[in-house]
Amino acid sequence: MAKNSKSLANKKLHTKVGDRVIVVSGRDKGKQGNVKEVNPSKGTVLVDGVNVVTKAQKANPAVGVQGGLNKVAKPINASKVMICCPSCDKATRVRKEIRDGKKVRVCIKCGETIDV
Ligand SMILES: [Zn+2]
Repeated sequence: MAKNSKSLANKKLHTKVGDRVIVVSGRDKGKQGNVKEVNPSKGTVLVDGVNVVTKAQKANPAVGVQGGLNKVAKPINASKVMICCPSCDKATRVRKEIRDGKKVRVCIKCGETIDV
């Protein structure tokens, strides 16, 4: 039975691509960035400028790859980030509401809609 993998695939994250989030724990605590990618099955998000690691890249002139140290952002666990509300500019949690027949996310602190 693939029951477990199915429930994982259906798991939704509180963040979406394009959200501004703030990191609340770990090495990058306090950093803000925009969500570049979400991976609901792994429960991770890729945030611009967060969890940046330096990768050594070997030069390969045949394919035009230059050697050196590259900085790449790695995905972090979604539970480490909170949505940063665009209206009140605070790290916040969201609740789901139906407004004008559309399901939207609402900031629990100021009550403003986060989805536009
Ligand atoms: Zn707010």
